Amino acid sequence: MSGVPEGSPLTALPVEKRDVVVIGGGPAGMAAALGARRAGAGNVLLVERDRVLGGILNQCIHDGFGLFLYKETISGPEYAERLAEDVAREGIAVKTGAMVLDLGPDRVLRLNAPDGYRLIRAGAIVLAMGCRERTREMIGLPGTRPAGVWTAGSAQALVNLQNLRIGSEAVILGSGDIGLIMARRLTFEGIKVKGVFEIMPWAGGLERNVRQCLKDFDIPLELGRTVVEIRGRERLSAVVTARVDEGRHPIPGTDAVVPCDTLLLSVGLIPENELSKRAGVVLSPLTGGAVVDETLMTSAEGVFSCGNVLHIHDVADGASFEGFEAGKQAADYALGRRSACASFRVAAKGCVRYVLPQVLRRGADGAALRFRVARPARGLKVEARGILTGRVYGSRRFARVVPSEMQRLVLRAPAEEDIEVDGHE
Ligand SMILES: Cc1cc2nc3c(=O)[nH]c(=O)nc-3n(C[C@H](O)[C@H](O)[C@H](O)COP(=O)(O)OP(=O)(O)OC[C@H]3O[C@@H](n4cnc5c(N)ncnc54)[C@H](O)[C@@H]3O)c2cc1C
Repeated sequence: MSGVPEGSPLTALPVEKRDVVVIGGGPAGMAAALGARRAGAGNVLLVERDRVLGGILNQCIHDGFGLFLYKETISGPEYAERLAEDVAREGIAVKTGAMVLDLGPDRVLRLNAPDGYRLIRAGAIVLAMGCRERTREMIGLPGTRPAGVWTAGSAQALVNLQNLRIGSEAVILGSGDIGLIMARRLTFEGIKVKGVFEIMPWAGGLERNVRQCLKDFDIPLELGRTVVEIRGRERLSAVVTARVDEGRHPIPGTDAVVPCDTLLLSVGLIPENELSKRAGVVLSPLTGGAVVDETLMTSAEGVFSCGNVLHIHDVADGASFEGFEAGKQAADYALGRRSACASFRVAAKGCVRYVLPQVLRRGADGAALRFRVARPARGLKVEARGILTGRVYGSRRFARVVPSEMQRLVLRAPAEEDIEVDGHE
């Protein structure tokens, strides 16, 4: 198998068999394990590298989760606990502190667990490894390299899980949801948040977060302005910000120095697909996640994907619903209930930034496409059209759309050709 050299003593390890293995114990992975079990898979294994299940939810101590799944808003840890209780109640095998190190194209995975190293052959696999944050290096932020520069999620872990005070005057670069939530969180901790700077002309996070985390606390949000320099020797002493033009280049003469000792970066999330690549899964350059069909199966036979590893979700409920579906489909595959059939491609066009799934199998009736737009728009009519015939397979008008929110378009007829999804104001 991939990653194990010929003749290695590891090839002598016995191979354990499982119906479905789910990699990652966040909301998507827990839901996938539950979906697989409820669809009849008897032998499901859920693997999580952390000591406890829950994923990113464990550090999200704020309220606002579960509106769609539980019809109430609860905190991240409460949300994780409810799913983990269901996993335990349904008798699903769980390995925590266990990391999947490698995944071969033959659905054999290498697992390093507290009770030993093992090889597992799965009837089907669900990828639910979540995402990681973009760093200073990835956005090429110039200046010195002092202490006090954090990604927003790592700062959240320090504050919420380790009860550390990370500074006294902060600036936040990027208006993604984590940055917005951290602006409020730092304010609660008595840290002065001097501003949130966003390079785009619109906020990156959900509108409710802009309202509840910035406006309610009088924290300024400056759109079309970015950080162009980091200053400080041992500790951050200031950042220099500048306005940007339409091409997102700093405009000379618009510089402003903002003294601060803490800079949080909320500049994007990247699906964590290193393992997926090892398994030969084809990734989309638009989402950073796998290319999937409407059953959430990737290009690798019997390997399914859900949650933030597939595409970055706006809310945890979206990751959970996707997880339930991926688990059910994985069980169908493992139990031999899936039929092979021809498929068609689905592509995003114009102001539609990306669409999921990217593949529809012939006969997929009433398939729901999910998509994000590239820029805010009002009165947008979104159509799914056949590329060959121009036939409209689905159409919906949206009063208002923003890039931070996922949208949905249900097809009224099964695809019989490749489709493109476009929007017109
Ligand atoms: C700071 C922040 C605030 C948020 N606030 C809200 C909110 O208010 N409301 C809301 O609805 N949503 C919110 N979200 C979004 C929501 O939390 C995510 O959409 C959701 O948690 C994604 O779930 P997931 O299971 O895909 O990923 P994660 O929760 O990231 O879980 C992935 C898991 O996979 C594990 N893993 C990865 N690789 C391996 C491996 N090789 N072997 C074993 N395990 C592995 C990781 O340890 C992790 O536990 C927030 C997100 C963040 C980051």
